[in-house]
Amino acid sequence: MEYEAVIGLETHIQLNTQTKIFCTCKADSWFDPPNTNICPVCTGMPGVLPVLNKRVVEKGAVLAQAMHADLKPVSFFDRKNYFYPDLPKGYQISQYDQSLAKGGYMDVPQADGSLRRVTIWKLHLEEDAGKTKNDPFTGSRLIDFNRCGVPLVEMVTGPDLRSPDEAANYLTRLRQLLRWLGVSEADMEKGHLRCDANVSVRRKGETILNTKTEIKNVNSIEAVRAAIQKEIERQVREYENGGSIQSWTLEWDEDTQTLKKMRSKETEADYRYFREPDLLPVYLTEDWREAILRDMPELPLARRARFMAEYGLPEYDAELLTAEKSLSDYFETAVRAYAGDPKRVSNWLMNDVMRMLNEGGNTAADLALTPAYLADLIRLVDSGTVNTNTAKSLLEKVNRTGKSPAQLVQEEGLAKVSDESAIRAVVEQILAESPAETAAYRAGKVGLMGWFVGQVMKKMQGKADAPKARALLEELLK
Ligand code: ZN
Ligand code: MN
Repeated sequence: MEYEAVIGLETHIQLNTQTKIFCTCKADSWFDPPNTNICPVCTGMPGVLPVLNKRVVEKGAVLAQAMHADLKPVSFFDRKNYFYPDLPKGYQISQYDQSLAKGGYMDVPQADGSLRRVTIWKLHLEEDAGKTKNDPFTGSRLIDFNRCGVPLVEMVTGPDLRSPDEAANYLTRLRQLLRWLGVSEADMEKGHLRCDANVSVRRKGETILNTKTEIKNVNSIEAVRAAIQKEIERQVREYENGGSIQSWTLEWDEDTQTLKKMRSKETEADYRYFREPDLLPVYLTEDWREAILRDMPELPLARRARFMAEYGLPEYDAELLTAEKSLSDYFETAVRAYAGDPKRVSNWLMNDVMRMLNEGGNTAADLALTPAYLADLIRLVDSGTVNTNTAKSLLEKVNRTGKSPAQLVQEEGLAKVSDESAIRAVVEQILAESPAETAAYRAGKVGLMGWFVGQVMKKMQGKADAPKARALLEELLK
């Protein structure tokens, strides 16, 4: 019997605002000690009121627009009631039936080149809860409220994904999009992007939705892939043995790579949602909406397609160059400055500039080697002023010193030596200093030519015109 998986992902995305969603506490506490970014509002003290952070609505709206969702002119906050020690108010302020946006989708390119359209079922704003952990020394349970009130977007997909790989691809593209839009750092290790997966299986060809389980605590793309794979295998085994699937909540244990049953799942009724009486409705006026969306960047997939169409780049290049927005901006600025074959710029970027970025840990926007300098440099190679090796070392020097390639060529005398008499003098000297190799070459060991060319380059600090050096060597070794 052939089975197929039906997977939906529920993500919590931490928006990268300076302050929390309903108070002025610092939002990102990753490097701070526990309970240092808290106040009466986010710890639920009596007699205080929440005030909505405008930037949270703006970043949420940018994300919703990028997901092709329908932005609502009026939305509301609601209380989601449940008891847990990390939730000091006894409820989470969230959005329920009238959220900031409705609908939407994301197209996700698959390995075979096809697109999988993933629909968005839910997209709303909410606050984060705190976190608890065990104290290994005393055995007691400790609470850190720093994360209380950190702004989140919760986004839930339809059951549209069909394999662990598709789920992983969706998350990879979502992470790329979040960074591209500048709405979240989307660092899964730091909990900026958290994921739960709903998984069921059915016989291939069926359209029903069988009972699903929810996998919690899968916080890397590799963990998502592995956990879903394990759960699919378990469910298929159950069905094959004549059993059935219960709607469990499962927890992924990263250390043992296994799933453990946490609890039977709550239903929505358990949360007793009702309107948050302490907050006004959110009015996303026409003017405000326009101001927010005015600077909406071209999205990664659109830019990828345009790079292929407009610059004739292979898909491989277009994919790599649009991995990050700053890199794709850099490429495009350099192409305009160069005004030659875009593929040449792409090659230099993929081979050399990206290596510098990987080593330096910067983004393309931070490079002292500006797109204009890169264009200058490629032109210096095109015009024969420097050879490729010199140009490669120049890249590093430009980036270290911030000086223009032309200035460095002049200051350091790096221009390629094409002057025949200068090269001839060096060739003659090398032949005189290497009688054994010269004799061997003349006796038929022509493979030594490479060695001779290398000697010339070494003596001339790599600046010799290589074809000219070779021609002279051939002439004088005859
Ligand atoms: Zn606070
Ligand atoms: Mn949530």
